[in-house]
Amino acid sequence: KDRKDKIRARHYILVEGDDVPCPLLDMKEMKFPKVMLRAMKRKGIKHPTPIQMQGLPVALSGRDMIGIAFTGSGKTLVFTLPLLMFCIEQEMELPFEKGEGPYGLIICPSRELANQTAEVLKYYTKTAHEAGLPKIKTVLCIGGFSLKSQLDELKEAVHIIVATPGRLMDLLDKKSIRLTLCRYLVLDEADRMVDVRFEEDIRTIFSYFTAQRQTLLFSATMPKKIQNFAMSALVSPVTVNVGRAGA
Ligand code: ADP
Ligand code: MG
Repeated sequence: KDRKDKIRARHYILVEGDDVPCPLLDMKEMKFPKVMLRAMKRKGIKHPTPIQMQGLPVALSGRDMIGIAFTGSGKTLVFTLPLLMFCIEQEMELPFEKGEGPYGLIICPSRELANQTAEVLKYYTKTAHEAGLPKIKTVLCIGGFSLKSQLDELKEAVHIIVATPGRLMDLLDKKSIRLTLCRYLVLDEADRMVDVRFEEDIRTIFSYFTAQRQTLLFSATMPKKIQNFAMSALVSPVTVNVGRAGA
């Protein structure tokens, strides 16, 4: 067996798809700026979890991905850090102007999850900016909070939107969010979106995209319905499935 198969077997990582990038055992191999590695360390993050070992190289490679791993296994960093890296690179090449963006969209099934995800992003974007990297702006678009303040924030140059489906559909409908430049889409906790008219809403949201995009779908479980949806909506995805020992 070659090295990558050994790493996968040892960490219960199952992969499907063509030309799957190699899993990496060390965060330092992922090519994140030093400031990001230090920021992770401050949060007690030194070694990647199995979904991160395999998921980060896949996400960083630009491939579509289906990530299946249990709650608490560290999925958030698998989609937030590569998006942040893409935004920083983009911003260094050609800065966003007022009213432009987003470059990335993260859809979460609940306000609470959207809020948590935005907090993670804000921590890393703030740290990166303080170290001299370009400023990356995240806007949280969720129900239950003032629409006016979200609309005001959206007038800036926005790189990342973290949203719940309902509020997002409203803002797309009002043309307050345009997805013409959006190239990175995350559906987090997809299994929990089944009950919120998942497929119909997500297909509507998809119809607003015009640029070629990378799509990542995450879930703790993969019911047949979500599996079928993912296979129809993603382009030659890599599936990364991390099971527990004996599970
Ligand atoms: P999931 O989305 O898979 O349920 P999260 O991304 O919310 O899991 O992560 C759960 C917790 O684990 C968070 O508090 C996060 O900071 C922490 N965490 C994530 N990655 C690591 C890591 N590599 N090492 C230590 N802790 C981590
Ligand atoms: Mg999560």
